[in-house]
Amino acid sequence: DKLKKGLEKTRKSFTEKIEQIVVGYAKIDDDLLDELEEALISADVGVKTSTLLMEEVHHGIKKKEINTPEDLRPFLEEKISALLMTGSDASTLAVNPPTVILVIGVNGVGKTTTIGKLGNYYKEQGKTVMLAAADTFRAAAIDQLEIWGTRIGATVIKHDEGSDPASVAFDAVKAAKARNIDVLIIDTAGRLHTKSNLMEELKKINRVIQREIPEAPHETLLVLDATTGQNAINQADVFSQSAPISGVVLTKLDGTAKGGVVVGIKAELKMPVKWIGIGEAVDDLRPFNSEDFAKALFS
Ligand code: GDP
Repeated sequence: DKLKKGLEKTRKSFTEKIEQIVVGYAKIDDDLLDELEEALISADVGVKTSTLLMEEVHHGIKKKEINTPEDLRPFLEEKISALLMTGSDASTLAVNPPTVILVIGVNGVGKTTTIGKLGNYYKEQGKTVMLAAADTFRAAAIDQLEIWGTRIGATVIKHDEGSDPASVAFDAVKAAKARNIDVLIIDTAGRLHTKSNLMEELKKINRVIQREIPEAPHETLLVLDATTGQNAINQADVFSQSAPISGVVLTKLDGTAKGGVVVGIKAELKMPVKWIGIGEAVDDLRPFNSEDFAKALFS
């Protein structure tokens, strides 16, 4: 299927590398373990996670769960799957609509595309969807969101370029309530270089949304680009200081060998991965399912 195909490069850099190392050694020794650790680090699972996994391996050797190089692959598969399956990644809608979803992330990670795909996902579930262009910093961002709105049949709330993002968000929440919209998805600007501004802007957006709906936003999704590997982890770190993130959307998993970053996000950052992007088409956004992901990674 498409997920398995999308993860092909990651599988090559990850599973097949482990396999190669394993068949290259007759017995477990320090060289093998060094090579294995390097393979894990280069697969973008993160240094901390690699260290943790290697500790498990040493432990497994001591406890005689690992006796030969061949035992390593199923052992790691089990441990990595367990890491992937920690916490809940489910994305649910609010009991009382509208569900307000705030989408954050730096420019270029696939934020607009993700909003379009997400809107389409809910449309296909029979929900009414509204988009809000609160990235008022770039005219192109507003235009692009409008194109997506037209494509998926969702109203787009926008103001002029340069206007106050929080007032767009406020108008959108009011409009979504008035029009009985099920899902409101709010785009935000992604200028990481002005960290304190970003923080203030997101705080203000949250504040005005809560004036209308105290429990909103129901979801704050951070969009990260899988092809940036460890950089994605660093971005998550910075953004988590600006807003309470409820989940990650990991885009561009197709065609990258860095899909191991999912393990890092879950194990290192303890953030749920709620959606994954596996292509540019409108239906190439999937709810993240750890079991399917682990299966696609190892089989
Ligand atoms: P933004 O600046 O964060 O809003 O980024 P865009 O939504 O404009 O996306 C940037 C580029 O990434 C576009 O060419 C998208 O088609 C592409 N893109 C987004 N998500 C994915 C994905 O899951 N897979 C692939 N291959 N491309 C993606």
